[in-house]
Amino acid sequence: MEDTPVYATGLLLEGRRVVVVGGGHVAQRRVPVLIGAGARVVVVAPEVTPAIEGLVGAGEVQWVRRGFEPADLDDTWYAVAATDDAEVNAAVSRAAEERRVFCVRSDDASLATAWTPAVGTAAGVTVAVHGGRDPRRSAAVRDQVLDGLRAGTITSERHRPHAAGVTLVGGGPGDPQLISLAGRRALMEADVVVADRLAPRELLGELPSDVELVDVAKLPRGRSAQQEEINRIIVERALAGQSVVRFKGGDNFVFGRGYEEVIACREAGVPVTVVPGLTSPIAVPAIAGIPVTHRGIVHEMTIVSGHLPPGHPESLTNWPALAATNGTLLLMMAVQNAPHIAAALVAGGRPASTPVAVVCDGTMPAERTVLSTLGELEHDLVAEAVKPPAIIVVGEVVAVAHPERYA
Ligand code: SAH
Repeated sequence: MEDTPVYATGLLLEGRRVVVVGGGHVAQRRVPVLIGAGARVVVVAPEVTPAIEGLVGAGEVQWVRRGFEPADLDDTWYAVAATDDAEVNAAVSRAAEERRVFCVRSDDASLATAWTPAVGTAAGVTVAVHGGRDPRRSAAVRDQVLDGLRAGTITSERHRPHAAGVTLVGGGPGDPQLISLAGRRALMEADVVVADRLAPRELLGELPSDVELVDVAKLPRGRSAQQEEINRIIVERALAGQSVVRFKGGDNFVFGRGYEEVIACREAGVPVTVVPGLTSPIAVPAIAGIPVTHRGIVHEMTIVSGHLPPGHPESLTNWPALAATNGTLLLMMAVQNAPHIAAALVAGGRPASTPVAVVCDGTMPAERTVLSTLGELEHDLVAEAVKPPAIIVVGEVVAVAHPERYA
């Protein structure tokens, strides 16, 4: 069979009668795909699985509730013999052969007149793989091709879509595995990538050589001037017909100034799409083994910027209110002001013994977690020489993850 030549083709089954004989798990896997192709699916079986029964109830398939009869294949375009009884499957094969209906066999492919390839769709391309005798091999090849299509690593230069506009892509906390498939694809298909300091660097190394990289970290300093410059670059490039990716660490809308870029694009009439990223205040503790909520312990979490100290005239944060809850606090950009913040939380009512975890360089090779308490945080940050970037987790969830430290 390995050498049996196969003629690969795609059947257009819209509105055409397809008969599936058998109502078990093999049938259950085939039926939804046939429905997806628009076929008029008839299942012939005395019993069916609850999932197939659900499709019958929804009117998506017709169920003939008895054993197979050859006349079931009258006026049929395609047949699937999927019972666990070889004799029944053989009867289906015979009836199909007499009627010139192509028939797949779940029990013995060598007795079939059609083989089902491993199939999948990604990026508007349907991939079908015939791997001879070994279905795992076809599935593995299919998965690799689909992964490549989703990630944009399989895409011919000529076919790279050139949709002018800006895509905000959140790269996740740093590990290149933690970007979304949509984000990776947008990166690979971009003309220009405008990247931040905290954007996952390894992904930039994988960009096709003709993708231009604008490294925002190298723009002249001064925060607001810098943001205006970024807005100008992305808008100008998009108006010039390029596909621009604005690439940041975490999620662009979580302390990422992403929406300022959306507004700038809107004002210039430039289309914008957003691909969310795993945001560091949730993903970094998770990677470090700390849950941000835990049943029976906390019913809330708050993500807070610590870039201004409590009491600063421009601070928009109600620190006394945060101190008065017992929810998890996830402090970002807070290493420098952490002593002030800890003091404000204790002054507002949180016990000095409240557990604190400082997760530095989350997902990077240098990742480490410093365990402390609100009362000892100032001392521990100095003693451990903690530097940004770090997520500071305040609350009982830290003790849930590290009971030995807080017993
Ligand atoms: N948009 C980003 C956050 C940008 S603000 C997001 O959604 O994650 C920058 C702050 O994010 C840093 O000061 C730090 O608090 C946090 N941060 C980002 N990546 C981090 C990482 N890998 N490890 C620890 N903290 C990180």
